[in-house]
Amino acid sequence: MAQIKVSWIWDNTRSRLEKVSWHRLLWFPGHIPKFSLISWMTILDKLPTKDKLARFGLTVEDKLPTKDRLARFGLTADNGCVLCNFGLESRNHLFSKCVYAKGILCDVLHSCGLTQEPLCWSDNLQWMLQNLKGKSLIVHILKLAGTGLVYYTWEERNLRLFRGLAPSIKTIGIYVV
Ligand SMILES: [Zn+2]
Repeated sequence: MAQIKVSWIWDNTRSRLEKVSWHRLLWFPGHIPKFSLISWMTILDKLPTKDKLARFGLTVEDKLPTKDRLARFGLTADNGCVLCNFGLESRNHLFSKCVYAKGILCDVLHSCGLTQEPLCWSDNLQWMLQNLKGKSLIVHILKLAGTGLVYYTWEERNLRLFRGLAPSIKTIGIYVV
């Protein structure tokens, strides 16, 4: 009886989809898995931001079945951004419109020797796709900085939301760089 290889099973039990253009920004030699994972979820807009929770009624005060329990998980009637206290928290807000996140991005861009202004979410992604090509050291550093920025911004949001902690923009910038 012929032996079945694991690779054959893998190839024949999954549906192959077309590669997305941004995969190389996340999965590259030397990537940091936790940075890439959070960035992957961010690009797919799968992070549980408050705008999404609101769609499920989790932030509407009179619909909370156990308000105190949800409050312990940071779910309150407030859908605002915990980083800048202004605007509805969404992927696009957290990673491009938020004044706080823009401050971190400016610090990171400056540290990487770039002088460009932060763009909107889709333009930032497009810029990275067009400019972060090849295997040079600077491209590698910028990919790590990009995924690290997303990771630490999300971590900062969670620290503020769930633990009430608030490190400074400079601290986050130092983590990323
Ligand atoms: Zn904000």
